[in-house]
Amino acid sequence: MPSRSHPEQPLAQALRQPPSQPLRYLGGYPAHLLQQVQGLIDAGRLGETLSQRYPTLHEVRTDKALYDYVTELKARCMRGAAPISKVAYDSKLKVIQHALGTHTRVSRVQGGQLKAKREIRIASLFREAPPEFLNMIVVHELAHLKEREHDKAFYQLCRHMSPDYHQHEFDLRLWLTARDLGLMPGVAEA
Ligand SMILES: [Zn+2]
Repeated sequence: MPSRSHPEQPLAQALRQPPSQPLRYLGGYPAHLLQQVQGLIDAGRLGETLSQRYPTLHEVRTDKALYDYVTELKARCMRGAAPISKVAYDSKLKVIQHALGTHTRVSRVQGGQLKAKREIRIASLFREAPPEFLNMIVVHELAHLKEREHDKAFYQLCRHMSPDYHQHEFDLRLWLTARDLGLMPGVAEA
């Protein structure tokens, strides 16, 4: 299993590349890492390697369970951030917005008060996924409640919530690659 490296290309950007390019999720990573990944694919070992490293699927299957999961993590790691009004799995996310998760902040005046409504949507492909990958995406969207850009402060916040954030992001990219190649039996297409 290749080791982690700081991602240069945001996942959302990777999703815009044609599926015909099997390593599209790994753009921006150094060539020697890509060679290791290609080596695992060529040896027919990528799926097996990932299944061994991430053997379980989480149980957060419903929007209600996802809401509880997100608010619990937020209460633990981001005390003080404004409440989230809605959390949901979204099956259209990947196709339409080229994203694995989104966060929105809508401000409106209600009864003379300015109220901000925050929503987090998670691509429904994460409904059946290892817990580490759901966690990584939720941490990413929660961090955006405080930091807009993918800058140093943003990744610092991500690592505060999940010390293995970068490793999980890299492995998530491998997992998406393996899914595209049909190497992850038991994981249903979203
Ligand atoms: Zn982001």
